[in-house]
Amino acid sequence: MKLYKIQKSKIDNNGLYASKDIKKGTKIIEYKGKVISTKQSANDPKFDNSKAIYLFNLNKRYDLDGDFKFNIARLINHSCDPNCEVLGEGLKVWVYAMKNINKGDELSYDYGFSFDEDFRQFPCKCGSKNCIGYIVREGSRWRVKKNKNKKK
Ligand SMILES: [Zn+2]
Repeated sequence: MKLYKIQKSKIDNNGLYASKDIKKGTKIIEYKGKVISTKQSANDPKFDNSKAIYLFNLNKRYDLDGDFKFNIARLINHSCDPNCEVLGEGLKVWVYAMKNINKGDELSYDYGFSFDEDFRQFPCKCGSKNCIGYIVREGSRWRVKKNKNKKK
């Protein structure tokens, strides 16, 4: 039985929701895509900015492009307080539960966007207590705090 279902999200568009209780460390869904060389992704305008949302780096030589309809895991929304993490395993990528997840909870992970001047382009609506208001990876959120009050 699948551990997830597609449902209208409180965060954005459709999301994935836990269809049963999920224990921490469980592999929930494969993040499917096409393996491409890092050379290819570096030269393809599709990945031309730092916001290659569906692109995962696998290793020095390969990336995984998950920008396909068949990749259900791409529906998972970003959260500033995520309950999942996405980890590479060889040339495959899996979404894992990073905490115990209750049936009915929306699945989320940290999209890991690096911080740059365009951070305002990607507002975050995750609604968690520690939401920074923008989609920026955890280690860089202090930069948002610093910049938020500054006028453009
Ligand atoms: Zn947020």
